[in-house]
Amino acid sequence: SPRRRQMVVANWKMHGSFDFCRAMIPALGRAAQDAVELVVCPPAPFLATVSQLALGTGVTCSAQDVAELPSGARTGEWSAAMLAEVGCRYALVGHSERRQHHYEDDALIAGKARACLLAGITPIVCIGESAAERERGETEQVLCNQLDWLMSTPLWRQAIVAYEPRWAIGTNQAATPEVAQATHALIRAYLAQCDAQAAARMPLLYGGSVKADNAQQLLAMPDIDGVLVGGASLDIAAFLPIYSAA
Ligand code: PEP
Repeated sequence: SPRRRQMVVANWKMHGSFDFCRAMIPALGRAAQDAVELVVCPPAPFLATVSQLALGTGVTCSAQDVAELPSGARTGEWSAAMLAEVGCRYALVGHSERRQHHYEDDALIAGKARACLLAGITPIVCIGESAAERERGETEQVLCNQLDWLMSTPLWRQAIVAYEPRWAIGTNQAATPEVAQATHALIRAYLAQCDAQAAARMPLLYGGSVKADNAQQLLAMPDIDGVLVGGASLDIAAFLPIYSAA
């Protein structure tokens, strides 16, 4: 199978401060290795600072969200081109908290992914089913529908997909490595129906209660190319063992 980029992504959500950035980025930089990309998603007010602190350390920077439009009357939003200008390489798109608290739907999320790809920002497109959907046996249908939206986007082959089952986010109930692997294999197979080469190359990240004690088993799975870490990314002692497991 082709070599896929391995990455570990720290999603700070709405946590942190200037002091936190000034302490974390150099510490992460000392741990960062070429073989596994270490990506940090700070809150938007700290993106420029984090990308400056990260220069030359091997740490890269991602936004937690981005606007669908390239510019315009959209108070409170920022464009993908602005992210590129402050040194971001990635943007999370469609995180479940954006879907839940900001009513983002698949059409908007596809628009955000498209805006990123056109501006040279790699979108990390988050997909995942709810607990009720999994219990009803609808997981495959839900994920395939979310992937259809992604694949309707020009340049989708350059995106990254993060599988984040909603029941696993912030719950301490991570998917088992077997469930995560089976779901990643399903995602890759569905992408392959559209473009086998693109599917084989695309990094697929798992997110949802990744901790030091489950990271290694998850990352050992053949279709899990990295992890997206929320809660455990805020504490260097919790995060570095996750990074080292990759
Ligand atoms: C996330 O917010 O993307 C996430 C995976 O959170 P946690 O690791 O806290 O479950």
